[in-house]
Amino acid sequence: MNWSNPFNCLSDLTSLRRRFISRPVFKLMQRALPKMSQTEREALEAGNTWWDAELFSGKPNWSVLQDCPAAKFTTEEQAFINGEVETLCAMLDDWDITHHRHDLPPAVWAYIKQHKFCGMIIPKRYNGLAFSECAHSEVVMKIASRSSTAAVTVMVPNSLGPAKLLLAYGTERQKDYYLPRLAIGQEIPAFALTGPHAGSDASAMPDTGVVCRSLFEGKEKVLGIRLNWEKRYITLGPVATVLGLAFKLYDPKHLLGDQENIGITVALIPTNTPGVSIGRRHNPLDSAFQNGPNWGKDVFIPMDWIIGGAAQVGNGWKMLMQCLATGRAVSLPALSVAAAKYTCRNTGAYARIRKQFNLPIGEFEGIAEVLARIAGETYLLDAARSVTAAALDNGQKPAVISAIIKYELTERMRRIVNDGMDIQGGSGICLGPKNTLGRLYQIIPVAITVEGANILTRSMMIFGQGAIRCHPFVQQEMAALTLDNPEQTLQQFDAVLFKHIAFMMRNMGNGVWYALSNARFASVPGDLQTQRYYRQIARLSAAFALVTDVALLTLGGTLKRKESISGRFADVLSNLYLCSCVLKHYQNQGNLAEDAPLMHWACQQSLNRAGQSMLAIFHKLPSKSLPWLLRGLLFPFGNPTAPPSDVLAQQVAAILLHDSPARDRLTQGIYINQNPEDATGKIEVAFKAVLAAAPVEAKIHQAQKLKQLAKGLDSVNLQAAVTKGIITGDEAQLLEIASQARLGVITVDDFSASLQ
Ligand SMILES: Cc1cc2nc3c(=O)[nH]c(=O)nc-3n(C[C@H](O)[C@H](O)[C@H](O)COP(=O)(O)OP(=O)(O)OC[C@H]3O[C@@H](n4cnc5c(N)ncnc54)[C@H](O)[C@@H]3O)c2cc1C
Repeated sequence: MNWSNPFNCLSDLTSLRRRFISRPVFKLMQRALPKMSQTEREALEAGNTWWDAELFSGKPNWSVLQDCPAAKFTTEEQAFINGEVETLCAMLDDWDITHHRHDLPPAVWAYIKQHKFCGMIIPKRYNGLAFSECAHSEVVMKIASRSSTAAVTVMVPNSLGPAKLLLAYGTERQKDYYLPRLAIGQEIPAFALTGPHAGSDASAMPDTGVVCRSLFEGKEKVLGIRLNWEKRYITLGPVATVLGLAFKLYDPKHLLGDQENIGITVALIPTNTPGVSIGRRHNPLDSAFQNGPNWGKDVFIPMDWIIGGAAQVGNGWKMLMQCLATGRAVSLPALSVAAAKYTCRNTGAYARIRKQFNLPIGEFEGIAEVLARIAGETYLLDAARSVTAAALDNGQKPAVISAIIKYELTERMRRIVNDGMDIQGGSGICLGPKNTLGRLYQIIPVAITVEGANILTRSMMIFGQGAIRCHPFVQQEMAALTLDNPEQTLQQFDAVLFKHIAFMMRNMGNGVWYALSNARFASVPGDLQTQRYYRQIARLSAAFALVTDVALLTLGGTLKRKESISGRFADVLSNLYLCSCVLKHYQNQGNLAEDAPLMHWACQQSLNRAGQSMLAIFHKLPSKSLPWLLRGLLFPFGNPTAPPSDVLAQQVAAILLHDSPARDRLTQGIYINQNPEDATGKIEVAFKAVLAAAPVEAKIHQAQKLKQLAKGLDSVNLQAAVTKGIITGDEAQLLEIASQARLGVITVDDFSASLQ
């Protein structure tokens, strides 16, 4: 070694570090990294990264979030939401649909088709509506607040399915033929991926296509594919005219080339093709959207039925994963927010209308705590929905974020509706036309299960994909490991590795400093109300990035199977994302003081959860001393954010119990009507009537306290109150109207002995 020349010295140091650090780490990583299948790689590479990568960086660049424009609609979109969507909602009678017809009425099907509800994502040149993702989300949300059956029927053609696949990968001929027909519902699409033997692990499907030549439409020896498949749970399957079918393609006779096992391929199959069988219907928890199995026996299709033609053989999985990267960020989140807003509006009003122990039940602390959870969570859900939809419109295709919001929004919707059921008591349980919540409660598991079942999404997808895609160095390190040239490989690996080490040191420094200072000096956006939350995001992000690296280092490839650890990491990342959305949403809406309790509740709740999950990781990591040391350095005083206080919860609950702009903003975008004959219209009317009568009721109670009036609110007593001048005749009438309206809301349905 030559230490006399500083340049030589540096080069010697580099070669030393390559020899003694990079090479052993390289070998270790080569052994530790699990083999990745083609489908896993394609799933990992789908979409892009956005704010998730900033959270992974340990030092988020706030302008990435701040610069994303707020959701907005064109005049045409707004007119559609206020016009056609309102009209459609008014046509929907959920009890009739789910209990009597088990389908949408023909007039509703016709309206959906005529007004191009199935063509929201289809461009104008194909006669579609060409709506933004924000508008698409808003339409689905409003419909879902009226009827899940109608919402699912509209969601599917606009979500992962033939139209989306054709737009991204179809040939011009396919687009010209199918898209205009799909836009007006002349073709009803279904997307057929899942089968009896391949559910969550859809890439394991046993469905096959074999390249061959056959007679087709009178022509001999047409090059094509002989298909055999069995699918189930396919939404719109029973009424579909065209199936987007996924299957594994083989070419044993090498008619296409050298490759025998070509891989997953997607084709469009008209359901009237010989050999296709559309089975009977499934009954998904009594919701009435069309869903069922289908299968094909020796179905021959020409090559140009493959989406994108012969050029796209074997690319099916990639195509599906790319479309899923954005698709799952819109439909189910919109449906979840619809359910949340609907519960806020109706259950909140119910808690004001329903009295027990002489008080509206919403005034009891126990109920207020649950109401606060419903309202605070709804604010958070809506923030995540609208911020993410706006990011999609801004060109992002964030695969990890779409998994986060699919999982988090459907999970939180489940809790919100459960809470609503608890508050509604028997009136939520007894089904019938007057019930407002029971059908919603029933359909929740559908949202949990489809587009990536939730347990799998949380424990495997979010952090599994995030740790590779969003981490600034892991993907580069993995790429370096696969290079052929050994010298170049080590050189490249060494460069990335040392950047990675510097990154860890920085996160360690920031993490400890933030822990000591509670991130007080971190440079963040926001104002006096919100800066403390931005700072906690900065603090948790630094800790998250560092602990991620420690977990990757100590567990390597086995982390993939340690789902209870990777699920906790997913919870940290998800809650940081959700909190970021809340802050952005609050800002987008103009930092309104009346909404501040909702913002505070949502931030405190999500940060507290992120902190809890972070602390849980230290207990779950295998080695004991390192996690213990890290915990002591990064969280010396435990979880930095407390959950929302009781005082805050009372303020948030109050929003649901009063007719206010904050309540209207919180529930904005769902279908609201004032028809006293309608189950939800009746609640609106009663809510207003009860609120209008409240001051009169207070006068009566005061008089009763002073023993000027007997107990009770019966008509004799009211008359006495008028006679004694305690209230006026008009005020007595207000009480009478409120009492009638209350009776209408608390009344439940009954049926004959055979439940007819
Ligand atoms: C109403 C409805 C509509 C549907 N519509 C369509 C459609 O239009 N097109 C279509 O192709 N499919 C559709 N599906 C299928 C849906 O995508 C699958 O149901 C879903 O992928 C789960 O598959 P599975 O039901 O077979 O459950 P399984 O795959 O058997 O999963 C059961 C449980 O195991 C969990 N799990 C599985 N693997 C793991 C793992 N590695 N780690 C942790 N947990 C794991 C899952 O999260 C789930 O909780 C629909 C399903 C339903 C119920």
